[in-house]
Parts: sequence; structure tokens; C-alpha cells
Amino acid sequence: MSDAPLLETRDLRTWFEVQRGLFAKRGTVKAVDGVTLSVNPGETLGLVGESGCGKSTLGRTVLRLIEPTAGTIRFEGRDITALSPSAMRPLRRRMQMIFQDPYASLNPRMRVRDIVGEALDIHGLAPSPSEREGRIEALLKRVGLRPDQAPRYPHEFSGGQRQRVGIARALAVEPRFLVADEPISALDVSIQAQIVNLLKDLQEELGLAYLFVSHDLKVVEYVSHRVAVMYLGRVVETAPAASLYTDARHPYTRALLSAAPVADPEKKRLRIVLQGDVPSPLAPPPGCTFHPRCVLAKKGLCDVTAPALREVKPQHFAACHLADDAPSA
Ligand code: SF4
Repeated sequence: MSDAPLLETRDLRTWFEVQRGLFAKRGTVKAVDGVTLSVNPGETLGLVGESGCGKSTLGRTVLRLIEPTAGTIRFEGRDITALSPSAMRPLRRRMQMIFQDPYASLNPRMRVRDIVGEALDIHGLAPSPSEREGRIEALLKRVGLRPDQAPRYPHEFSGGQRQRVGIARALAVEPRFLVADEPISALDVSIQAQIVNLLKDLQEELGLAYLFVSHDLKVVEYVSHRVAVMYLGRVVETAPAASLYTDARHPYTRALLSAAPVADPEKKRLRIVLQGDVPSPLAPPPGCTFHPRCVLAKKGLCDVTAPALREVKPQHFAACHLADDAPSA
């Protein structure tokens, strides 16, 4: 893996103006609120957090499928934050998305051959019909489907096979970076491991980088080199996977990990129950936004001053005033 980041964000913000009710005041949802992160070539950065924490919005924003409100996005060293749609078009080839619900993301009226072939056509990657056919066949084989399945429609496939079609479509344009947004959460448990292993094999074979968005901490541990934990639009902890899973420093990460199922009872963590619900992103709490739910919150500090994301040990960053005091798992 090279050291120069493939994708970098600096203080990225994606805010939405919303109106609560017909006569209510307008408000701002800070779905992504000052996120700085990087993904290196060939690396998987896992992005975890409860639903509504902003991880999917972040995934779409880095691909410019949603416009950022502020901050910067760099891809292959180039600032792409404000590129026009036409300037973005050649870059779209190298940054693709795998969606959560493969059925919703595939056109039900198109044959698989055309779903995959369309991507080739848009980017002019198949100059002749025979070349097009050959590439579609090779892509289907690469994701574990048979070339004779190319004339079928999405409804003729199982959920796992449909996700394979979605992956083939993304691979058709030879990307370097993929945002995988909950790519297995809509699938049967028995199929999930196959898709995860396919993504890992493709990474090894093609040197792909992934931003792997998931609420499933076990899967993220299995696929990720590094992990970022999001809470209310911000990254509250980020570290190499091994460090995060054995020595989490943020109380929110520790609570998430303690709630995740563990196969080995010897490694079972003390369960930390999260208090209350995630606060409304329309009115985030002052100070540390996690303080109303944090068992360690200190009055006069945590409810007043927002903690910065700081390095608490090499390559391990946490946004918590007490991150240095956190006991080991
Ligand atoms: Fe808890 Fe305070 Fe740390 Fe926030 S800063 S996570 S409230 S201890």
C-alpha cells in the first residue's frame, strides 16, 4: 500500500436545511459536521456508527453524489470539491459505489448484460460489440456468476447474486476506490460471508480501496485495515483495526463494542449500556455531543467544551477529554 492517500477529506460538512412542520422554524441537520479522514490505495477504511450518524451521507458526499456544504475532498491528490459535473465525469470511472439494496439499485427492466454493459458504454470502454460481450462475460465470471446468466433480468437472481451484479457493474469501469454502503445488510446471513470474501478477494487482486460503511462491528473488523467511528456527524475515534478493537479509547466506541456479539466467551467484554437515544441532529447537545449518554461525562467539562480529535497513541485518535484515562478492554 502506498503512503499517499487516494482519498482525503478535510473538515468536510454536509448540512441540510429542513422545516419541522408547516409553521415551525427551519432548522439545519448537520449530517456530516467537520470530518477529516483519508483512505490509502489498496486499503479498507471501515466506517461504523448507529443508524442516522451520518455515515451513508459521508460516503455519498466523498463521491460527490451529495454536494458538500464546506470543507474539501481530494481524490488522487486533486481537489474535487467544486469540480463541475463535466469535469467530474472522467473521475467517476475511478470512484464507484456498491449499494445496500442491490434490487433497488438495479433497473428491473434491463437485462444483466445491459446493466453491466451500460457502464462500459458511458465511458467508451468497449469499442466493438464483441469486445463488449467479452468484457461483460469476464466481469460476470470475476464476481462468481456464469456468462450464460447475462440475458436474465434482476428478478431472476437471488439477493446475493444481485449484489454480485451490482459489484460487476461497479467494476466494469475499472475503479480504484469504492464506497460500499452496508453492502451485506440486506442479504441472508448465509450469503453475507460470500459477498464479504468476494470484496476482499477483489481488493487483493485489483488493489482496490474501500470505504466500507456498516453498523456491523464484526464485519468491519474482518474487512478493515483502519476503522473510523462516527457519532452525530463527527468522527469520534479512528485507529488501525487491531488497536481500535483491543484498546478503544472513546466511551461510545467501547459501548458499541460491548454490545457486539463475541464468538469466544473468554473475550466477552463488560456490557456498557448506552443511555437514551441518539439526540436529534437538529439540536445536538453542547460540548461533547455524546455527553447526555456517556457514563463517564464530567459536569462542567464535557457538557461545555467539545473535545478535539487527538492522537492518544500512534495512529490512534479519539475525541474525548478522558481518552488517556480509558481502561483497556
Ligand atoms: Fe464522555 Fe466526556 Fe469523553 Fe464525551 S468527552 S465521551 S462526555 S468522557
